[in-house]
Amino acid sequence: MKNKYDEFYFENDTNYPASVYWDLYDKNQMEAIRKYDGHMFCPICKLAPLTVARGNQRRYFKVIESDTEKHDIDCPYRHKMASKKETNNFYKDLDTTDIRNRLISCLNRMLKKVFNNMDGNGLLVRGEKKSKNNFFDFNGNGGERKYLPHKNFNSGNLKEDMDIQKIYYGKCALYIYKYIPKGGADIKMYYLKILSRNSKKQICEISISPYVYNYLSNELTDIPEERDEALNYYLCFSGILEKNKYSYKCKLKDSRLLVLEKK
Ligand SMILES: [Zn+2]
Repeated sequence: MKNKYDEFYFENDTNYPASVYWDLYDKNQMEAIRKYDGHMFCPICKLAPLTVARGNQRRYFKVIESDTEKHDIDCPYRHKMASKKETNNFYKDLDTTDIRNRLISCLNRMLKKVFNNMDGNGLLVRGEKKSKNNFFDFNGNGGERKYLPHKNFNSGNLKEDMDIQKIYYGKCALYIYKYIPKGGADIKMYYLKILSRNSKKQICEISISPYVYNYLSNELTDIPEERDEALNYYLCFSGILEKNKYSYKCKLKDSRLLVLEKK
């Protein structure tokens, strides 16, 4: 299957979810094309140029066949995405130090501005990198190189392949709701509420048991408990999403499956 990109790296700046493009496109086609087309690149290696697929069914970004070789040598998009089975196997025998390092790399590389790797003209320098691109890679069932399913949670298509465990990441505003049953004294569950930074609409919530919360308490203690005090964060976690009437939900199974940083 062809890789479809639902985020893009915009020249000399940072990664944007596809919605940034389409919001402008729907308002003013010409302006979107003038601003972005020809200036968008692979969100991981930042080298392979992205082109726009304006389909009726689905809009997305792609790298055309003849540009595949422009991905950096260690870019995961040179490979195929892992199947559901391979992904399950990966998470079954999980090395928790390994996954934590992957999430930290994901947070740093996908969400922050790129300062390294630039020469004096602000151009990317090939081969002088401090950081690597292969933080989603692993060996699939046949020993073939594959990459772990992942998605920017601001990209707006969370429903897609929802039953496959993914690394979700994005910029967001956070607050935390501590559930204490009526008449009880103890917190039974923590709900980390992920809001869109702009609209402050809820994107998703992560339920965290008191046991798992203990391991994360240092990092979660600064998060406000009131929705209108929600603070901006970079967030990256791995899990399986579910959807109910109100929101997407994810249960955090291990403290090492979540990293965050105040922004
Ligand atoms: Zn690439």
